[in-house]
Amino acid sequence: MEELLARGLRALGLSDGGAGPLARYGALLLEKNKVMNLTAITDPADVAALHFLDSAALLTLEDFLGKSVVDVGTGAGFPGLPLRILEPSVHLTLLDALGKRVSFLQEVCAALELSDVDCVHARAEEFAAGHRERFDLAVSRAVAALPVLCELSLPLVRVGGAFLAMKSVESDEELRSARHAVELLGAEVSDVRDYAIPGTEVTHRLITLKKVRPTPVKYPRAFAKIKKAPL
Ligand code: SAM
Repeated sequence: MEELLARGLRALGLSDGGAGPLARYGALLLEKNKVMNLTAITDPADVAALHFLDSAALLTLEDFLGKSVVDVGTGAGFPGLPLRILEPSVHLTLLDALGKRVSFLQEVCAALELSDVDCVHARAEEFAAGHRERFDLAVSRAVAALPVLCELSLPLVRVGGAFLAMKSVESDEELRSARHAVELLGAEVSDVRDYAIPGTEVTHRLITLKKVRPTPVKYPRAFAKIKKAPL
């Protein structure tokens, strides 16, 4: 896996110095995945491309240098942890509602000596109460449809920061349906960019929502309300 990662990182124009730690993380992921549900992707080459290089591609699309970043619904650590491994100046918070996944992330951080990464077991809409507008950037992949995801993520982002939503290239309609939520929550769509994952035929999309005003205090609502009546 290490060679594939090194090649992919070079293709993205990134330093291949992170390939070793990413490969160790990949080995831990595949080992733990035998006893708990962390990922449906089990072929090491696919893990390299669809988890690590997909996450790494964000570094080519946004400046993460020295930024505080929260990964909302990080699961087994994507995209946040590869970003932190490849850009050590990132101050990372990994957030997930499932305790077992957060325990796995703590194990990975200990094994890779990433002592400054915060692994938090919480629902995003509850975490916002104590961490409102605290982060330069929020990132998220494969958690919810954009109108819901905006309500979970945008309250965490400071004005002047951004929420980066990783989506499929077929997300035009999803983006259209989120326009009202984006506006209501104090953001605007500042960029929509498709990117290729090296070594594959796969193209994904990064939607950048810039926070331009504070989010009204009534958001986020309780999850039952968010789900029942998305903005
Ligand atoms: N982002 C990872 C990835 O792309 O591989 C994980 C995606 S997984 C399909 C969705 C994750 O979001 C799950 O681990 C789930 O527990 C978490 N999640 C869903 N709703 C959440 C919420 N409201 N707050 C925090 N985590 C949430």
